[in-house]
Amino acid sequence: AQLDTLDLVVLVALLVGSVAYFTKGTYWAVAKDPYAASASAMNGAAKSGKTRNIVEKMDETGKNCVIFYGSQTGTAEDYASRLAKEGSQRFGLKTMVADIEDYDYDNLDTFPDDKVAFFVLATYGEGEPTDNAVEFYQFLTGDDVAFESGASADDQPLSSLKYVTFGLGNNTYEHYNAMVRQVDTALTKLGAKRIGSAGEGDDGAGTMEEDFLAWKEPMWTALTDAMNLQERFPEDETVYLGEPTAAHREGRAKGPFSAHNPFIAPIVESRELFTVKDRNCLHMEISIAGSNLSYQTGDHIAVWPTNAGAEVDRFLEVFGIADKRHSVINVKGIDVTAKVPIPTPTTYDAAVRYYMEACAPVSRQFVSTLAAFAPDEASKNEIVRLGADKDYFHEKISNHCFNIAQALQSITSKPFSAVPFSLLVEGLNKLQPRYYSISSSSLVQKDKISITAVVESVRLPGASHMIKGVTTNYLLALKQKQNGDPTPDPHGLTYSITGPRNKYDGIHVPVHVRHSNFKLPSDPSKPIIMVGPGTGVAPFRGFIQERAALAAKGEKVGTTLLFFGCRKRDEDFIYSDEFQTYQEQMGDALKVITAFSREGTPKVYVQHRLKENAELVSELLKQKANFYVCGDAANMAREVNLVLGHIIAEQRGMPAEKGEEMVKHMRSSGSYQEDVW
Ligand code: FAD
Repeated sequence: AQLDTLDLVVLVALLVGSVAYFTKGTYWAVAKDPYAASASAMNGAAKSGKTRNIVEKMDETGKNCVIFYGSQTGTAEDYASRLAKEGSQRFGLKTMVADIEDYDYDNLDTFPDDKVAFFVLATYGEGEPTDNAVEFYQFLTGDDVAFESGASADDQPLSSLKYVTFGLGNNTYEHYNAMVRQVDTALTKLGAKRIGSAGEGDDGAGTMEEDFLAWKEPMWTALTDAMNLQERFPEDETVYLGEPTAAHREGRAKGPFSAHNPFIAPIVESRELFTVKDRNCLHMEISIAGSNLSYQTGDHIAVWPTNAGAEVDRFLEVFGIADKRHSVINVKGIDVTAKVPIPTPTTYDAAVRYYMEACAPVSRQFVSTLAAFAPDEASKNEIVRLGADKDYFHEKISNHCFNIAQALQSITSKPFSAVPFSLLVEGLNKLQPRYYSISSSSLVQKDKISITAVVESVRLPGASHMIKGVTTNYLLALKQKQNGDPTPDPHGLTYSITGPRNKYDGIHVPVHVRHSNFKLPSDPSKPIIMVGPGTGVAPFRGFIQERAALAAKGEKVGTTLLFFGCRKRDEDFIYSDEFQTYQEQMGDALKVITAFSREGTPKVYVQHRLKENAELVSELLKQKANFYVCGDAANMAREVNLVLGHIIAEQRGMPAEKGEEMVKHMRSSGSYQEDVW
């Protein structure tokens, strides 16, 4: 990949003197742009050249990637240009954009197999090709395709042609994306090999950009595989490309590992716990062997996530910095006492992918700081209105659960190129690690930490799109990769699985351990009561694993009572098989009481089961049982607390307030413990 060093431009973007005016004014950034070669300069080659032979043209100009467009209003041409730029800047492809009518098609059978052709084709009117693509379409889909060489359709004449397709259509018309679909079918029939999936953007649903972004990343991954390309990164070793610390960047990270210095841990096993297709719950085993990290049963592990590729792309496109995503930026505090929240120097891409909480719901205040940088008067007015009117903001933005980039996209399709990056660094939170209750026992597996995580993919009421949890979808992608999928894309999302400078290759994830007070009694013969529906069962799997191991060694283990709840026995009753094994090891000491909320009416939850077993619960409390609650803080934990107060009052013949008081007392003395989120 030789990007002309002559083209190297040092762009000193002093990011706007007026920053101080609109922000706390703490940061500014300087961007150097080592990848300043512009694909648009490569554009229009055919128009000026003589040949109509694309193979010749590419040879003459040293290209290995042609992006043909069939465009009526210019949108497909725009997308073609963007692909050309991205291909050149990220992967060092020698790209050219070509109007499809500027070339002949009867020599496509001589297209070499180390090059690639993209077809970005709009469908016009009632399933028709755009004016400039009519001839191409007729050639390819005609009854007897004839090539200059004399090859006919039966000879699979295009067997050396690698191609990529993206169609622009409108699903309110009957023949949705007919053009690209037919071209794709025809090319395949002639033996050509498509790379990636056949992308389709839908203008009718207003999701063209969304569809494009979701399609593009897995396509690049497939293309880099097929053409043996490497994504290009700045070679400068002082630049942070996503590494959490300087030591990680320099490849000399060592313990003690902590919240400021995560351990890049191998995921040694991962599997799905649900039996249903539409929801996911992950079980992962993370090795901490050799790290000097330790944990105790009941502790938390923090996972350092990365943002999804499509969201990173969206963000960079919305702020008009996609073209220079790998440019090196230096973020400095204007005020020397201000701590810059992200490692620097870095790149735009790394900053958004690894360091900024770019997918969180956007705040009204932050949106309003962008008014001054709006691309036109109308968008500016809209932002001012959003900033001033709480209800309007709720209706247009919060209700849809938009992140910052989605919010701006909903206002205008024009990029907000004037927004200083420093403002974004300052206005968005630093990407936070997410905590998980460790679901294994340190006594049983001291070098391996289990995680039990439900993958967040929810449609909140009113939202027009699914909300995809940052960390859990990243973990799902890692699981898919580990289980043999070379290009994982959970829910259409892709991730930089191999991490900065490929340092996470081989399925690694940055983690640290946080110690908690959520602990088993030191005397295993003491009874315990655990309430843990859903993933709230996580730490209790660890507790039970530990007590089962002790029982197997012949130690006396007290009653171990678990209340577990989920929707249906055969869908999301996680670890049910394991519990049977533990039951064999522990005998009567283990009691698992279940509540399946979707197996009948009325719905039964753990708190109902708790009430039904009031006598047993009360008896165990008399024997000084510890009481544990884990999981949903909003409803479940509060109700369990109430129910327990009632149980105590009722069983001991006390007034209700006295029961509540007893629970309070249990909390303060440490015999009622919560691990809720
Ligand atoms: P995030 O991206 O953080 O999103 C989380 C939620 O935020 C979404 O579901 C949505 O409701 C909201 N949200 C996100 N983006 C938007 C938006 N643009 N607009 C509106 N709303 C939005 N989880 C487990 O599965 N298992 C455990 O054992 C476990 N233990 C925990 C222990 C502790 C001490 C704590 C604090 C949490 C624990 N959690 C556990 C929760 C876990 O830390 C994560 O919060 C969870 O996995 C979601 O992370 P995420 O990055 O996938 O989702």
